[in-house]
Amino acid sequence: MEDYRINTKCVQAGYRPGNGEPRQIPIIQSTTFKYDTSEDMGKLFDLEESGYFYTRLQNPTNDHVAAKIAALEGGTAGMLTSSGQAANFFALFNICECGSHIVSSSSIYGGTFNLISVTMAKMGIEVTFVSPDASREELEGAFRENTRAVFGESIANPALTVLDIEKFAEAAHAHGVPLIVDNTFPTPVNLRPIEWGADIVTHSTTKYMDGHGSAVGGAIVDSGKFDWMAHAEKFPGLCQPDESYHGIIYAEKFGKEGAFITKATSQLMRDFGSIQSPQNAFLLNLGLESLHVRMPRHVENGQAVAEFLEGRPEVKEVSFPGLKGDRYYDLAQKYMPKGGCGVVSFEMKGGRRAAEQFMKGLKLAAIETHVADARTCCLNPATSTHRQMTDEQLLAAGIPAGLIRISCGLEDKEDLIADLKQAFEGME
Ligand SMILES: *Cc1c(COP(=O)(O)O)cnc(C)c1O
Repeated sequence: MEDYRINTKCVQAGYRPGNGEPRQIPIIQSTTFKYDTSEDMGKLFDLEESGYFYTRLQNPTNDHVAAKIAALEGGTAGMLTSSGQAANFFALFNICECGSHIVSSSSIYGGTFNLISVTMAKMGIEVTFVSPDASREELEGAFRENTRAVFGESIANPALTVLDIEKFAEAAHAHGVPLIVDNTFPTPVNLRPIEWGADIVTHSTTKYMDGHGSAVGGAIVDSGKFDWMAHAEKFPGLCQPDESYHGIIYAEKFGKEGAFITKATSQLMRDFGSIQSPQNAFLLNLGLESLHVRMPRHVENGQAVAEFLEGRPEVKEVSFPGLKGDRYYDLAQKYMPKGGCGVVSFEMKGGRRAAEQFMKGLKLAAIETHVADARTCCLNPATSTHRQMTDEQLLAAGIPAGLIRISCGLEDKEDLIADLKQAFEGME
């Protein structure tokens, strides 16, 4: 599969049926797997042989789909998780422990921000947030002796900032730690962070990968490039014996290519159990089969809607990395010449009231706490996800009260624009 182009991988990577086997990935709806002898099963528990014994750790349906996502990202191993939150938690916690420190871009998804700054803090893991626009010198200042990972989002949800992956990767590697990139918004169809130096890639597959708003899920892909053993003192979990697996040393036994995902599966999935259901993995794969066909349309619709909004007198500012005047236009051109995604954010001149009125008038675009699926949807953070905040607090957080995030679906762009136009014209 490696030699094929990404469009072909979307359709066929990860699963090759044998003679007379199902053409579509079968849903292995089974909690457990049968063995002829205890000795056979024992080999699995010793990680001497790979195989399945209990779906809390691994399931064949999931593994086919994870292999496809790994192929799309150009990684060596992958795994599915129950959600994007679980993917980011596992990716970080696989190499961090009490006393560790993370350097993270401050422009990230709110759920991930809470995960790192509140919940992981309770585990004794500290974080320093840096601007996605930080210079190399500013980045340098964020690292500590106990830093174990650098984290960022390729296109941030909801701020739509673009991460300078090469710069962040260089800084991470200069300090002997990996760069983890959440690549949910562009998807590997538009950007493959590993090609720019990222070591681990995560996804909320709930978004474009599923693409139909039908299954919550996540994924982690390892580039297989980070040399854990070269920094063994920083990563004892990978480079020292695991007493819960008869003293296995992951980085030795599974090498750079397999250590990270094997450890995340055999320790974290075993202990936390955040597995994706095989049924959801099947649905996710249906989405992946058309990801390369859908993404260009999301980008095209996003671009058309962003350009339309730019010309409206009611609109103060539009953020979309594909717009010539956007702060991130140059970075987006470098990393995503085919475009990023279909999410656009814009600020209404009339603030909260104007945003509310405008959205009430929309007929095609539905009001939802969701992004990145086939149907266009929108959200005004000030009156929904962030409604406990005052206008002043909202401004300080970079979310003006009149901000609307619109996720452009796969409808006809002329219909989307007509919908926005009639909503503007219907405002009192
Ligand atoms: C939605 C999202 C997440 C969280 O994913 P869930 O599947 O909702 O748990 C993480 N990162 C980004 C960039 C997201 O958009």
